[in-house]
Amino acid sequence: MKTKLHTHRFTAGRKATAFAAGLLLLSSVSFAQSQQAVIDAMMKEEMGNSQLQTLAHELLDEIGPRLVASPQMKKANDWAVAKYKSWGVDAHNEKWGEWRGWERGISHIDMVSPWVRSLQGTQLAWSPGMGDKTTTAEVIILPNLADSNAFKAWLPSVKGKFVMISASTLSGRSDVNLKQFATPTTYEKLNADARDITTEWATRIKNTGYAVKTLPLAIEKAGAAGIITNYWSKEFGADKIFDAHTKMIPSVDIGMEDYNLLFRLIQSGGKPSLRIHCESKELGMQPTYNTIGTIKGSEKPNEYVMLSAHFDSWDGGTGATDNGTGTLTMIEAMRLLQKFYLHPKRTIIVGHWSSEEEGLNGSHAFVEDHPEVTKNLQALFNQDNGTGRVISMSGSGFKESGAFFDRWLAAVPDTLKKRIHTQFPGRPSGGGSDNASFDMVGAPGFSLGALNWGYSTITWHTNLDTYDKIIFDDLKNNALLTAIMVYMACEDPQTLPHTAADGVTWPTQTMSIRNGRLEDLKK
Ligand SMILES: [Zn+2]
Repeated sequence: MKTKLHTHRFTAGRKATAFAAGLLLLSSVSFAQSQQAVIDAMMKEEMGNSQLQTLAHELLDEIGPRLVASPQMKKANDWAVAKYKSWGVDAHNEKWGEWRGWERGISHIDMVSPWVRSLQGTQLAWSPGMGDKTTTAEVIILPNLADSNAFKAWLPSVKGKFVMISASTLSGRSDVNLKQFATPTTYEKLNADARDITTEWATRIKNTGYAVKTLPLAIEKAGAAGIITNYWSKEFGADKIFDAHTKMIPSVDIGMEDYNLLFRLIQSGGKPSLRIHCESKELGMQPTYNTIGTIKGSEKPNEYVMLSAHFDSWDGGTGATDNGTGTLTMIEAMRLLQKFYLHPKRTIIVGHWSSEEEGLNGSHAFVEDHPEVTKNLQALFNQDNGTGRVISMSGSGFKESGAFFDRWLAAVPDTLKKRIHTQFPGRPSGGGSDNASFDMVGAPGFSLGALNWGYSTITWHTNLDTYDKIIFDDLKNNALLTAIMVYMACEDPQTLPHTAADGVTWPTQTMSIRNGRLEDLKK
């Protein structure tokens, strides 16, 4: 509702003041009414016509995982732009760097001796492809050597063999399962023994004179057929799938118990052999993009409220909860804002960052490239710790954040906020996710902290990070919460001062890597 102020003329100052005060009251009443109408409309839409499942299917099932500079990442960038445009939101892909492009192909890993079993396993990201070649070879374990000289003396024996360079695992049961069923004595003993294995293995790596990331290349140079690792995620069936560190030979992760099987066979004097065939495509350096969507502000177009979630993922699963869920939350919140918040006061920007997984590179680049946004940022809301409903918010060390959040949260329906724990002024984030990139330059990046749902072991960077782990009710909750917080931050008559609370200093700014994994391509 717009008030027609210009039709009235007053000469008496006192009368005018009284009238202005009345108008102010009227307009704040009408704002409260229209505010409630906007929030009610968003709630009704999300509860009755949520697009989250469709969006999740399109992104996670049809496009799949989104490793930086992979064709699937680009597909996802283009999908998001098209989606926004179909809703009338201005969107584009913003190039910020170039990374080594790699496309995952098939991985076939079989034990062929002493008996036949197709193993659970996959090549690590950026593992060199084998083309048409299939290699059958004996598999050996990195032995416990006295020092780097002993390692050098042993190294020629890797020629033509697959080499296992990870420790074995004592028990494949999750901690939850062990706690439920083991006697306290058994539980303590298993944990103590597992710690001993970890310590022994760290010493074994150290004695080679190399680190976990440099050892594979030394073994490759000595003529090995491939590197075999296991990174169990401490849940049934879950392995973390990260990146390869070889340039010529395949690097594969073999699932925990299949890895243990080989380990036990070798330890008892056996000579198991593996047949491995992995395909992948090297695509050279490829452009990397952030997808940016914008709804222009009408009153203060040069002040910004941002929605934020990284778009890329590791590729052992489909990146459903890291960070498919944060991504879907922001896309759905943007849909609600575009549909029901007709004339935003400030400009709304959504940032879908790439290469968060290799060190927040996409958001670092945005911060470097857009000082006009960070200088005039009212608030940025980032979500990146899984599918759970938001249960924590912090003021990131901004002195006056508490009063602002109080106003914004006041408009959030109780059903969405009753479990949220807040902390003001809180501390800035020094890393972990993209809100940190903003905190580093003293721009208010806030994290929407989710309930964890076993995130760190079940889905975080694992082969199990897939569609079935999404809790859509929690996602609806988060899309609504984000949309309402953005709406309130946009409407706020006051602008959040970028003042640090007493005793708070902003973390040192980290710069983006604009030429990622270029070193890998140098032979
Ligand atoms: Zn993440």
